[in-house]
Parts: sequence; structure tokens; C-alpha cells
Amino acid sequence: MMAKTHNAGAILASLTLYNTLIYEIPTTLEVSVFFSASLISSTLADISHPESRVGRRIRPLSMLIYQHVGHRGLTHSLISVAVLTLIPFIGVMLGYDVVLWGGLGFLIGHISHIILDLLNEPGVALLYPRKKRYRLLKLQTGRLADYMILIVMLGLITWQLSDMAVYWFERFLENFENLSQLFIF
Ligand SMILES: [Zn+2]
Repeated sequence: MMAKTHNAGAILASLTLYNTLIYEIPTTLEVSVFFSASLISSTLADISHPESRVGRRIRPLSMLIYQHVGHRGLTHSLISVAVLTLIPFIGVMLGYDVVLWGGLGFLIGHISHIILDLLNEPGVALLYPRKKRYRLLKLQTGRLADYMILIVMLGLITWQLSDMAVYWFERFLENFENLSQLFIF
């Protein structure tokens, strides 16, 4: 998938989780860290490809990873998911909420990346070090289907954001009403 499709996938996944399961992340800082981490990790797995957007930025490291573990191998495997799952746990153990929410965002972005890559023709070596590639569909990166998935996800993101905007606007009106009553009486 294109990097922008991965970006949208991570934002959609973290927004959905935020709206359905999390409800309240304690502070604005933690909300920002949660979504930023998700966005960053949405393309980071492709560090294993020297020609990917992230790979081109740090080509020497990307080449090293590519030569040793290959593309869509270790960085797209269940091992990588298990390792990243440790970050939120470390946050809980140390009592750092920022690490917990940042780690959770990072994990969600990474999982969304792997799910989207499972739709691609090359597939993903989910059970690395086993070399077998798994895939759900045979879509080509940068082709029509990739753009269609991107557009659908952008639509779902906009829908969720507008829902959130209505919710916060209603809360603002309630607070405004309470405040005005305070002044009237
Ligand atoms: Zn990938």
C-alpha cells in the first residue's frame, strides 16, 4: 500500500479505538502522543525497504535491515507485534501514562500497517522466521484499488471527526448554558 494509505489506516484505527473503547485519555498531551505515535508507526515497518518513503530517509539502516531480514519479514511479523506490545506494559509498570498511550498508539499504527499489507499481492511473512507469505487479497500498490481504499478510509475518518465535533460542540453549549445561568441568578 502507498504510505498515505498506511497513514490514513493508522489514523482510522486509532480514532475508532479512541471513540469506541478508550473514551477518555487523561490529558491533551497523552491524546497528542497517542495519535502521533500511531501516525509515525503507520509507515515505520517499511524501513525494511530502502525505496520506501521511510527507507529513503535512512537508507544505510534500511539497507542493513533489508539485507538481513528482507522486506515484509521481521518488521511485518507477529514477533514485531509482540515486541511492540511490551511498550504499553512497560508504561503501566513504570507508571508513565505517556509511555502507555504512546506505546498503544504505536502498536495500533503498526498493526494497521500489517493488515493493509496483507491485502497486497506480495503478502506478509507473518510467522517470520518462516518465509511463507500470507495475504488476503492481491491488490497492487499505487493502483486504483489502493486509492479507493484510501478514499473510503478518509471518508470514515471525516465521518468520525464530524461526530466528535458535534459531541464537543454540544458539551460546549451545555457548559455555556450552565455558565450563563450562573450569571443570571
Ligand atoms: Zn509494509
